[in-house]
Amino acid sequence: MYCPRRFGLLEINKDWNENAFVVNAELIHEHVHDGSHHFSDHQKVVRSSIDVYNNLPEYDLYGILDCVEFVRNKNGVAINGLEGTYKVRIVEYKPKAPKDAAFHETDAIQVFAQKICADFVWKCNSEAVLYYANTRKRIVLPFDESYELYDTLLKKYLSEMRAVMESHTIPTRKKGQKCSGCSLSDICFSKEKKYNVKDIVMSMKGVSLS
Ligand code: SF4
Repeated sequence: MYCPRRFGLLEINKDWNENAFVVNAELIHEHVHDGSHHFSDHQKVVRSSIDVYNNLPEYDLYGILDCVEFVRNKNGVAINGLEGTYKVRIVEYKPKAPKDAAFHETDAIQVFAQKICADFVWKCNSEAVLYYANTRKRIVLPFDESYELYDTLLKKYLSEMRAVMESHTIPTRKKGQKCSGCSLSDICFSKEKKYNVKDIVMSMKGVSLS
């Protein structure tokens, strides 16, 4: 959703590069996944790094959830390995909240894909929240109100991603694409110049710079 070209570079070329944004996100996720988020009390059981999937043909997804809170509730669902019944709450950790909105739509669609998997695995209607580290706030995502919208969007992006994978062709840069925070910009934009005026002038004078 952010950039089809970046998706192609990552998934077809297997390119990778880090910048401050990537390292910051990795540090936050390392902390979430280090086991320190595991705990239980009378209200909930919290677990991190949980594998989930949805193998319905229209999704065919697999992923790992940052953190899941199983909230004790008599109207909830049974969870394998736990006693009682629970409401399921997905918590996804992100470094930075947007300035002009409650959440990034790119974050929301990722969490919606997680919800599709969590609901499939636990036969539930999970709640999903984003936790932005810079504001230390939780944002409840509007999936109940806008389920159809996010579902249509997710299916559209999955179909586009699969078309890119099948074509083995890296998409060109989208018009208006914002690239300032992208860690792959050095790979994406070739540094080679088509010509260099100084080289041309020097070669006309018979001086080689190489
Ligand atoms: S530099 Fe821009 S166009 Fe290239 S992959 Fe990154 S976001 Fe996409």
